[in-house]
Amino acid sequence: MAIQSPKGFNDILPGEQFGWKDSYRWQKLEEVFRQVAHQYGYQEFRPPMVEYLELFVHGVGATTDVVTKEMFNIVPRGDDPDPRRMAMRPEFTAGLVRMYLENGVPNQPQPTKLYAYGPAFRYENVQKGRFRQLHQIDVEVFGSQDPAVDAEVIYLGLDLVGRLGLTGLKVNINSIGCPVCRPRYREALQAHFRPHLAELCEDCNTRVDKNPLRLLDCKRDARHPAQKTAPVGLDYLCDECKAHWEGLQENLKALGVDYVIDTRIVRGLDYYTKTVFEVMHPKLGAQSTLWGGGRYDGLIETVGGKPTPGVGFGMGMDRVLMVLEETGLLEAFQERPRLDVFIATTGDSVRAEGLKLLYELRRAGVAADIDYLGRSLKAQMKYAGKQNARYVVILGEDEVKNGTAGLKNMDAGTQESVPLTDLAKAIK
Ligand SMILES: [Zn+2]
Ligand SMILES: [Zn+2]
Repeated sequence: MAIQSPKGFNDILPGEQFGWKDSYRWQKLEEVFRQVAHQYGYQEFRPPMVEYLELFVHGVGATTDVVTKEMFNIVPRGDDPDPRRMAMRPEFTAGLVRMYLENGVPNQPQPTKLYAYGPAFRYENVQKGRFRQLHQIDVEVFGSQDPAVDAEVIYLGLDLVGRLGLTGLKVNINSIGCPVCRPRYREALQAHFRPHLAELCEDCNTRVDKNPLRLLDCKRDARHPAQKTAPVGLDYLCDECKAHWEGLQENLKALGVDYVIDTRIVRGLDYYTKTVFEVMHPKLGAQSTLWGGGRYDGLIETVGGKPTPGVGFGMGMDRVLMVLEETGLLEAFQERPRLDVFIATTGDSVRAEGLKLLYELRRAGVAADIDYLGRSLKAQMKYAGKQNARYVVILGEDEVKNGTAGLKNMDAGTQESVPLTDLAKAIK
C-alpha cells in the first residue's frame, strides 16, 4: 500500500477541486494579509520553525496545555555537542520575541510592528479544524501600552477577513488584569472553586493551584453550577488595568467594532495581561475560534529582555479558509497564474525551432509552455485549452520557412499569422 500523509498534516495543492486546500486560495489569503499588514505599517519577520524547548516553556508557559501536552519535541542525537532539547514551534509569539531581542531590534525606533505567517505544530487530537500542522497568520506590536494598539490589532484581523468577504464574526473581549491585580483575583477563584474540587475534572484539580484562571474555560466542567457564580475578573482590575480596559472599548467603539464582553475568555497562555480577545464564526461549530490574542506586557521580560509591553494575535489560516468554503466565499477566489502562450508544433522537424521560440518568449517575460509528450496537433490544442492558455502559437514546417507562426487567440477563437520576431510583442 502507498504511504499516506500522517494524520493531522494536510496537503495543499493547486486545483479548485481541493476546496480550502487549493494552494492558490492560500496564496490569495497570504497576499491580502501582506497587503493589509503593510497598509497598517507592519513588517515581515520570519522566525525558524524550531527553537529550544526552553523558549516555549518560558515564553508560552510551563503549565499550559500547549507545552505540557501538545509539543513536538526534538531530541538531539547522542553525538550532538549541544544536548538541549528543541521543539517545533506551536505558535509564533515566543519565537518572534526571541528574534526581536537577539537581533537588537529594541535599539531601533519603537514600537516594532511585525507580522509573520506559516506552519506551527501541535500534538493535537485531530478533528475538524484541529490539525497537527496548523498554519497561522501572526501580528505583534512590541513597545507600546496604548489601548489604541490593542484596538488596531483587533481591527486589522477584521479588516483582513472582511476583504475576503467574510461577515458574521463575533468579537469577544475581556481583561485579565496584570501582576498587580491578578493575584487577588486568583485567590478569589481558588476560594470559590476549592469546595467543588471533588466534582471537577482532573485538570481542574491541577489548575486550581497552578493556573486558576483556566478553571473558567474548562470544556468538561463548563456546566458545573460553580461556573455561573464564579467571581468575575473585571471586578478585580487595578486602576491602571481599568483605565486600559475602558480605553480599549472607547477605541473599538470609535472604529465601529461590535464586540461582546465575555469574562470567560482567559486564553491558555500564561503571559497574557490586560486585553484578551477571541474572534469566532458560527459556521465552524466546536472549533469556531478563527483567531485570538491579547496583550502580554510581561512576556518580553520573561524571555530575557527589558520590560516591554506587547500585543498581538494568531489567526488560524486553515480555519479561515475552511469557513470561507463553508460560507461559499471561496468560489470567488478563482485567480491563478495563467499561461500566456502554448507552443504547438507539428512534426519533429520544427521541434528545435519551437524550443528556441519557447525560451525567447520566456526571456521576454511571457509565460510560455510547450508539449513534452509528442502529442498530435489536435491533442496539443486540447491540452492548451485545459491549461487555460491565452494564446496558442502553431508552428509547422511552412511557418518556419516563412518566418511566421499562426497565433490563435483562445478566448476570442480568432487566428492570425504573425512574424516570429513580433510574437512576444503581439502576445503582450
Ligand atoms: Zn492590573
Ligand atoms: Zn475541568
